[in-house]
Amino acid sequence: MLQYTVQNRFLKYVTVDTQSDPASKATPSTEKQKDLGRILADELLEIGLEDAHLDEYGYVYATIPANTDKAVPVICFCAHIDTSPDCSGKNVQPIVHANYQGRDLVLPDDPEVVIRLDEHPDLKYQIGNDVITASGTTLLGADNKAGLAAIVDACRQLMDHPEIKHGTIKILFTPDEEIGRGVDKADMQKLAADFGYTIDGESAGTIENETFSADGAQLKIKGISAHPGFAKGKMESAIKIAGKILVELPRKLSPEATSAKEGFIHPVCISGHVEEAIIDFIIRDFEDEKLEKYATVIREVAESVLQEFPYASFTLKIYEQYRNMKQVLDQHQQVIDYGMEAIKRAGMEPRLRSIRGGTDGSRLSFMGLPCPNIFAGEHAFHGKEEWVSVQDMQKAVDTMVHLASIWEENS
Ligand SMILES: [Zn+2]
Repeated sequence: MLQYTVQNRFLKYVTVDTQSDPASKATPSTEKQKDLGRILADELLEIGLEDAHLDEYGYVYATIPANTDKAVPVICFCAHIDTSPDCSGKNVQPIVHANYQGRDLVLPDDPEVVIRLDEHPDLKYQIGNDVITASGTTLLGADNKAGLAAIVDACRQLMDHPEIKHGTIKILFTPDEEIGRGVDKADMQKLAADFGYTIDGESAGTIENETFSADGAQLKIKGISAHPGFAKGKMESAIKIAGKILVELPRKLSPEATSAKEGFIHPVCISGHVEEAIIDFIIRDFEDEKLEKYATVIREVAESVLQEFPYASFTLKIYEQYRNMKQVLDQHQQVIDYGMEAIKRAGMEPRLRSIRGGTDGSRLSFMGLPCPNIFAGEHAFHGKEEWVSVQDMQKAVDTMVHLASIWEENS
C-alpha cells in the first residue's frame, strides 16, 4: 500500500479541479467539488475515521474518537475544498522544486510566469526546502488543498499514535468558501464541536484571530429616459450619474490606497442603461462602526451628485456579509493561547495576525464555533504564481497534533 505523506496527499488533491462558481445557485456550486470530497472521505475512512462521509451538499464530516477519560472540549479542524473562480484550476500539473536555493522559478507551460525571490519575500525562509508550484497556466490550489492535506495527515498521525492523548476531534471540509458560501449548509448540530480552527493561512507560525467585518451595498440609480433625438433638457442618464458617483468617491478609501488596519469602499460590479444603473459595492473594515460611516459616504456622494439631476433618484441597500471574528474570540482566549503554544511546540515563533478578508471561521465564530485561522503555508493565492512548501505543510500537521494534546492537558 502507498505510504501517504502530506506531500503526496497534496499532489493528489491539486489534480482534481474544484473551482467554485459564483453564478451557480446550487450547493455545491459545482458538482466537481464532490469528486475531491469523495477522495477525502475515502482517505479518512482508510485512516480509521469510521463515520467519515460526504453529504449531498458537498461537505465532508468525520470524527476522531477521544482516547482519554478527561472531559475535553470538542475541537474541529476545518478546510475548504474549492479553489478560486479567479483562475483556472483545470488540469493542474504540480511541480516539486526540490531543495530550493533562491533561483527564479520559471513555470514551463508559460515562461512569462516567473516566481522571483524579490517579489515573494517569504521565499527567503524556504532555502533548502521543497517548493511546489503549478506549471504556468493554472493556479496551484494550495489555497486550501494544503490545509486539506495537512488535516488528513494529522488525522493519520493521531490514529497511528494512540499514546498521544486527545479529546474528540471533528473534521469539517466545506465547499464554496471562495464564493462566500462555505458555511451556508454546514450542519452545526451534526458537527457538535465547541471550538474550531481553519487551516487556511499563509506563513508558517502564523495564527489569525481577526478578520474584516464586511457589508455589501447596492446603489440603484433611477434616471430619466427620452428619445436621444429629442432629449434636450429631459434626459438624465443613470449610467452617466453612476460614472460620476464613482469618480467622486474618496480615493483614500479604496483598496488600492489602504493597508494594515484601514478599511475601504470598493465598487465590484456596475450594470445599467439610461433608465437604471446599479453599482454593487463591498465595504470592509475591522470595526463595525466604520462600516456605517462608509455607507454614509456612499449616500452623501450620491446625494451631492444627484443635485445636478433633479428628476433622477437613487436607493441604497446595505446587507451584512460577515463580522470580525475577534468579537467572539476575545471571549475565548484559550483558543488562541493553545494555538500559539502548539506552534511553539512545533518549533516556530508564533505570530498573531489579522486578515484583510474573511474566512469560513469568521462566520463559524458567529454560528457558535469560535474559530481562528492557522497557517497552511499557502502563498500568492488565486493566481498562477501560487506556491507552498512541503516543509511548511508538515509544520501545519505537527501544529495540529500538538494542539490536540494541549487541549487534553489543559482539561
Ligand atoms: Zn482559502
